[in-house]
Amino acid sequence: MSAITGPISTMPGAHHSASGMCDSHPDRPATYRIQGETDSFGCEMHDMCDECYAEHCEGMAATAAERATGTCEWCGKHATDLRSMRDYEEGSYGRLYDVCLACRKSANDRAQEELDRYGYHD
Ligand SMILES: [Zn+2]
Ligand SMILES: [Zn+2]
Repeated sequence: MSAITGPISTMPGAHHSASGMCDSHPDRPATYRIQGETDSFGCEMHDMCDECYAEHCEGMAATAAERATGTCEWCGKHATDLRSMRDYEEGSYGRLYDVCLACRKSANDRAQEELDRYGYHD
């Protein structure tokens, strides 16, 4: 996949110094400027005061926790420590799977064993 993100090189969520007013509180100066999702049309910027920024961070943490909870695509078990990762065998162009910690660990162990077998360890 080669998404065109335009001239913006910072990642979503990067902090920029804000100079305007808070998006939700026009009477408060914005202390944070948050870059939203970047797409081919550019990116959205949100100006936030301290309070809104704190809420935003809580939301982000909740989203991360939610994203980490679900069913592991490798072992099919319910997990709360899912991460996106690729299957080593499919290489770096393989799709991303939601994989639990136990499966990630055993995949790492397998990869390490393979390296050991071929004598690539030091
Ligand atoms: Zn605000
Ligand atoms: Zn698993």
